[in-house]
Amino acid sequence: MTKYAIHHSCGHTVEHQLYGPGKDRDRKEQRLAKQPCESCDRERRAEAACIANAGLPALLGSAKQIAWAEEIRANLLAQIDAQVAAQCQCWLAMPESEAVRALSEDKRGQAMALLADLRAKTLARVQQVRAEASCRWWIDNRAASITDLITAPIFATNPHLLALAREIAAPGSALLAMLATAAVASTLPGH
Ligand SMILES: [Zn+2]
Repeated sequence: MTKYAIHHSCGHTVEHQLYGPGKDRDRKEQRLAKQPCESCDRERRAEAACIANAGLPALLGSAKQIAWAEEIRANLLAQIDAQVAAQCQCWLAMPESEAVRALSEDKRGQAMALLADLRAKTLARVQQVRAEASCRWWIDNRAASITDLITAPIFATNPHLLALAREIAAPGSALLAMLATAAVASTLPGH
């Protein structure tokens, strides 16, 4: 067991204990030298989370919880933003879709109203999630999906939307899948 003084990419020299045969230690030494030291890396990650969290409420919790929850929040919000943008894109294309044009005029009107309602409620729910300031909430939801965080609460508090979607579109139809999108569809019972 030997201590190696490694000159990191950030300019700091830090002592590391490297184990294993000489060849492995050389490789580890080279890999470590290409990285910033541990404290610089921690600082860089905190900074990145800080930038991603700009405009969000300050989190409530212990210093340790805040550091962890900030990383989780930045991660989850990036995923939510990407998925919601894709979902809205799909909904915007719906009026021109084959599945909607095949509906009777009545049902087409209902489908468009449902779509507008779903879109508004989705965006409102995203704002609600962004406003969540409790570290505990973010930590508890660190493995949650967009379905858990966005879609399921919308349908749980608006059961009439679910009923309407099922009335307009046949179970398993392309239209229902589009109304709901893949993420939402999995929350539709019997789908
Ligand atoms: Zn450093």
